[in-house]
Amino acid sequence: MSIERIAIIVAGGTGQRMGASTPKQFLPLSGEPVLMRTLRAFTYIEPAIRLVLVLPAAHEEQWQKLCAQHNFSTPHTVVHGGAERFHSVRNGLQHVPNSPNALVAVHDAVRPLIEPMLIATAYDMAQRHGAAVPVVPPVDSVRMLLDNGHTQAVERNRVLLVQTPQTFRADLLLSAYAQPYSPHFTDDASVVEAAGIGITTFAGQTSNIKLTTPYDMAVAEYLIKYSM
Ligand code: C5P
Repeated sequence: MSIERIAIIVAGGTGQRMGASTPKQFLPLSGEPVLMRTLRAFTYIEPAIRLVLVLPAAHEEQWQKLCAQHNFSTPHTVVHGGAERFHSVRNGLQHVPNSPNALVAVHDAVRPLIEPMLIATAYDMAQRHGAAVPVVPPVDSVRMLLDNGHTQAVERNRVLLVQTPQTFRADLLLSAYAQPYSPHFTDDASVVEAAGIGITTFAGQTSNIKLTTPYDMAVAEYLIKYSM
């Protein structure tokens, strides 16, 4: 039985923390918009991969212009974003078959430094375990905010930071996203876990950073130039 690989690239947010008028997924990184590098990374593991790109409706025209300017020909389907990441992913899932023989990776568009090897591992882990997410250990010490306004140290070796691509058997992800939205859903693993499905973790990639501030853009430029 052949397995179909699908990736939903979420770029449905407006990225106000970057402080630029252009959405961060469209900002130039090493000469091309961030999003083009992200989409292309998925084609390296499988040229025929099905790519679903979730964009804010208001940015679709700008994206089409950028594709023409950069002769970007990687095939992808554009879907419009929703109010929260949850709704954006749910819109993308309309293009996913309800099948145990399809695997879906959900990846933040603003993580363009993803290495194809990590993507391949993500699909492999999802095929074996159903639901798999990449994690990295925190390097800083961690404190938790308490209800009384104070903070308390957390055992650092019990904390993991979650990256994307978060990857799932398609039928499991679709059933999880049939739940009503909750503000606790900050990523796909939290949605899938709330549906009673166990999450497997695997080692992420330190350089798979989520471009959030201008500082992150500078770091990404550096990494592309000197180490990738
Ligand atoms: O909000 P956060 O920074 O965690 O966003 C992570 C990813 O989710 C980004 O790629 C962003 O574009 C996407 N997102 C989305 N739709 C929203 C909000 C965020 O696709 N409504």
